[in-house]
Amino acid sequence: MTPQAATARATRVAELLRDSERAVVLTGAGVSVPSGIPDFRTPGKGLWEKVDPMEVAHINAFRSDPDRFWSFYSQRFVGLVEKRPNRAHEAIAELERRGLVRGVITQNIDRLHRMAGSRQVVEVHGSIDRCVCPQCGGRVRLDEVLDLLSSGASTPECSACIAPLKPDVVLFGELLPEDAMAEAHALSREADLMLAVGSSLEVFPVASLPGITLESGGLLALVTQGPTPYDSDAEVKLDGDVVAELDAVMAAL
Ligand SMILES: [Zn+2]
Repeated sequence: MTPQAATARATRVAELLRDSERAVVLTGAGVSVPSGIPDFRTPGKGLWEKVDPMEVAHINAFRSDPDRFWSFYSQRFVGLVEKRPNRAHEAIAELERRGLVRGVITQNIDRLHRMAGSRQVVEVHGSIDRCVCPQCGGRVRLDEVLDLLSSGASTPECSACIAPLKPDVVLFGELLPEDAMAEAHALSREADLMLAVGSSLEVFPVASLPGITLESGGLLALVTQGPTPYDSDAEVKLDGDVVAELDAVMAAL
């Protein structure tokens, strides 16, 4: 693609954002890759290299052997805690500040959208921001969980019922959080524009949301490397690096 064509596409996305009234952003793992968080579906990357995520991050693994679950998951927590938002997260937060998007629906659990300043964030896979007690429903903040782990607890426990705490993220084998899903569906249905960033749009629930927007008459714009099932439905697709592409969109606004 020529640089002129790339600029024209970014300008088109900027135009769509300006012309819409109820735009929403949908993000996947690709938006956090520039922050140093690999997509675990990419084989041979870091923490997920030697384990099968379907097995270690499964609700049955948590229930049957919480110590073993946490010996893996605590590394994941500590790895994610150090990460910082990148310019793609910042651009998305800026769009909300300027009133150009209503909010962001994300499948990422890394809370980087909130750290970047996004206020309306729907986390359909939950967040590492807290753990929950499966017995009493109590919530424990991430910093307290990290304190428990660094003081030598192999499994962080609820101080009230001594039950193993569960990260407030959707593990394999678990249902998606109803409230977040209802909110994601409503935002998608009401959206006159969905900007999908850094997602191959192949994994449920994120895969179903652009279809909801399209069926309600909204438009779709994609900022994603690699093919998606929605490529032919999209008004425009930017397929370069997410940070560079969103920079170009912001410059064209
Ligand atoms: Zn409890």
